[in-house]
Amino acid sequence: MKVLIVGSGVAGICLTHELLRAGCDVELIDNGKNASSVVAAGIINPLVFRRMTLSWRVSELIPFALKTYREIEHRTGTSFFHPLAIRRLFASEQELEFWKKKQALPEFSDYMETLTEEDLNFPLEQNTFGTGRVKRASYIDTDAFIQANRIHFHTAGILSEENFNQEELDPESAIYKGNNYDYIVFAEGKDAKYNPLFGYLPLQQTKGELLTIQSANMYAAESLNRKCFLLPLGNQQFKVGSTYAWDTDDTIPTEEGKQAIMENLKSISNERYEIVEHKAGVRPTVPDRRPLLGKHPEFPKMVIANGLGTKGYMLAPLLMHELVNHLLKGTEIDPESHINRFESLMHS
Ligand SMILES: Cc1cc2nc3c(=O)[nH]c(=O)nc-3n(C[C@H](O)[C@H](O)[C@H](O)COP(=O)(O)OP(=O)(O)OC[C@H]3O[C@@H](n4cnc5c(N)ncnc54)[C@H](O)[C@@H]3O)c2cc1C
Repeated sequence: MKVLIVGSGVAGICLTHELLRAGCDVELIDNGKNASSVVAAGIINPLVFRRMTLSWRVSELIPFALKTYREIEHRTGTSFFHPLAIRRLFASEQELEFWKKKQALPEFSDYMETLTEEDLNFPLEQNTFGTGRVKRASYIDTDAFIQANRIHFHTAGILSEENFNQEELDPESAIYKGNNYDYIVFAEGKDAKYNPLFGYLPLQQTKGELLTIQSANMYAAESLNRKCFLLPLGNQQFKVGSTYAWDTDDTIPTEEGKQAIMENLKSISNERYEIVEHKAGVRPTVPDRRPLLGKHPEFPKMVIANGLGTKGYMLAPLLMHELVNHLLKGTEIDPESHINRFESLMHS
């Protein structure tokens, strides 16, 4: 089977590895703009702190992601996957009470440490309501991940750096630039909005900004979280973020975004720091917070792999595996992820 993939963000990369593993002939093209995957902090957090709930399908997604990233590390000869200790600084008495209630429930105990006296009295000026430690979190060094895979696919002769030109596509037969494919999979992130085949889907463009800072005294033993995350990278460097701005597709960092992150960081630390880097990217989000996977309703050789939203690094390994099983073996796509939930929008 011969497959062309458009886009080498985390979706396209995981998809390429899955298809190669299944013995397919794969070509990958990317226009080098990389909107989201290279900007992301790459944190895999099983909890949603705002509502103190578990992330969607977490018990399947986390083990699969771990296994996949270890395999990709092995295949590319790079190290980018790191276990991570996350500590939530509770924002209110109510959040502390939520944690206490949930930590006793069997489905949460895999992901929450039971609160100790040390957690409640964690010695930080900003720690007014106590803290809680998350289990089974991790992060991907996204720069290393993207670079290693690009080099790996380039060396294998799979990746070409070019823009996909819709005018040279026949969607009925899946012929692109005179070459015949069994499937063409679009993993274009936020730019799927401009794809004439899939533009009917309710993809939103959610801009996010992120700082890399340097500080000699900031707490680096765990990733602290309140209003924002502070991710220790080693060598006294940290990533801090991020912001949310809806319906913007530019990737230009703004003064407003920087100020917002610096303000949020005050709720974690008053230590001095220097800003080393300021980046912005655009997340491909969906109003119902579920992915966009599946074959086009009228052109079944045209496929979409998108809508990974704010959690692409946690979602991509398993979801791309499920998409490949669907294409190769005809297994069903999880109904919550399937684009057929939006079929009524196609001709509206
Ligand atoms: C500030 C910020 C922080 C984030 N933090 C996290 C985090 O901590 N953890 C987490 O899991 N997620 C995080 N995310 C979200 C994560 O980045 C996304 O979920 C994920 O990267 C989406 O991946 P993707 O492959 O779908 O899209 P992208 O990464 O945008 O990749 C799409 C690729 O397609 C290419 N492309 C598009 N159109 C064409 C075309 N016509 N021709 C050729 N190539 C094309 C683009 O250049 C790009 O390389 C964050 C995002 C932002 C912005």
